[in-house]
Amino acid sequence: MSHRPIYLDNHATTPVDERVLAAMLPYFTEHFGNPSSINHIYGWETEAAVKKSREILAQAINATPEEIVFTSGATEANNLAIKGVAEAYFQKGQHIITVATEHNAVLDPCKYLQTLGFEITILPVQTDGLIDLTQLEKAFRPDTILVSVIAANNEIGVLQPLAEIGAMCRERGVIFHSDAAQAIGKIPLDVQAMQIDLMSFTAHKVYGPKGIGALYVRRRNPRVQLAAQQHGGGHERGMRSGTLYTPQIIGFGKAVEIALQAQATENQYLTQLRQRLWEQLSQLEGIHLNGHPTQRLAGNLNISIEGVDGAALLLGLQSVMAVSSGSACSSATTAPSHVLTALGHTEQLAYASLRFGIGRFNTAEEIDQVAQHTISTVQSLRKQKILL
Ligand SMILES: *Cc1c(COP(=O)(O)O)cnc(C)c1O
Repeated sequence: MSHRPIYLDNHATTPVDERVLAAMLPYFTEHFGNPSSINHIYGWETEAAVKKSREILAQAINATPEEIVFTSGATEANNLAIKGVAEAYFQKGQHIITVATEHNAVLDPCKYLQTLGFEITILPVQTDGLIDLTQLEKAFRPDTILVSVIAANNEIGVLQPLAEIGAMCRERGVIFHSDAAQAIGKIPLDVQAMQIDLMSFTAHKVYGPKGIGALYVRRRNPRVQLAAQQHGGGHERGMRSGTLYTPQIIGFGKAVEIALQAQATENQYLTQLRQRLWEQLSQLEGIHLNGHPTQRLAGNLNISIEGVDGAALLLGLQSVMAVSSGSACSSATTAPSHVLTALGHTEQLAYASLRFGIGRFNTAEEIDQVAQHTISTVQSLRKQKILL
C-alpha cells in the first residue's frame, strides 16, 4: 500500500470500525427486506434489527426507543429539530437562542428562519469557548420557543454545560435542543438528568457509516411537537418519511454500542495522546491552545501559531498528516473559522490554526511523528520569514 499521511482529522469523519462493517454486511444482501413490510419474514427480521439499534441509541442517552427518529445525519436532524419546532410553535413565540460557535447545520437553519420573520439571538462565547450562563439568562424572552446549544464543539472540542442550560430552559418552559454529533459515544449523555428535549446525532463521527443519524424527540414531560420536514409514507411516527436505511441503522447501533463499552478506556487513551502531542508542541514559542484546557473532548487539540502563514503551514504539513486548519470548516469558503474568531482571535491567528482530531486508531508513534514534523515546519517557516 502506498504511504498515506497520518489521519488526524477524526472530527471531520472517522473510518468505519471493522466490527461495524461486519454487522452491516448481511443487511445489504441476505437480510434486505423493508422494515415496514409487515406481511413476511423479510420485513420482520429487518424490523427486529432496526428495533435493536433504536434500543441501543435510546439506552445510550437514557431515552425510550420511541423517542429516536432516524435521519440521514446530524445536518438533517438539526434541520428537523429547529425548523420543526419553529413551525409547530410559531403561534407561541418566534424567538430562538443559539450560540456563535455552533455548527453551520444549526446556524444556517436559524438564518433561514430569520428570513421567515423569526428572531434569533446568537450568544457570544468566553475566550475559553464556553457560554456565559448569565448571558443566556438575560437572553430569554417571553416569546422564546427554543434554545439550541452544541454538546461538544467540532473545532475546539469544548463541552458546554448541558445540565445547567437544560435546567434554565425547563424552568421557563422553553424547548432545549443540543447538537451532539461529536458527543455521542464519547461523553456521558442523559436526556433526563440534563433535561434535553431534542438531540441530534450522526454515526460517522463515532466509527459508524456516513449517511445515517438520528434525532431524539422527547415524548413525555413535556411532549415536544415537531412539524415534519419531509412527507411521505409516515415512517418514524410521521416525523421523517422514507424507507429506513437498514444497513446504516445497524451500523449506527453497533458503532454506538462499541463506543459506549470502550468510552472510559478510550477517553483515557486519547487524553494521553493529546497530552503527549501538546507537551511537545507547547515547547514552541507563540503557541496558543484554543478552547477550555480540560472541559473538552479527549481527542481534540486545537492550536493557533503566531508568526506563520496558515496556508503555508498546511502546505508544509500535508504530506505527513491529515489535519484541518482554521479556515477548513466549510471547505468551500476560505473565510477564517467563525468558531475561532468567536474566541476573540484576529483573522490572521484564526487562519494559522490547526485542529488535531485524535481517534481510536492513532498511536503514540504517530503522535510523535506529527509533533516533530509540525515543530520543524513551524521553525523553518519562521526562519524563512526572517530571511525574506
Ligand atoms: C459533523 C457534524 C454535523 C453534520 O453531521 P452530518 O451527519 O455530516 O450531517 C453537525 N454538527 C456537528 C457538531 C458535527 O460535527
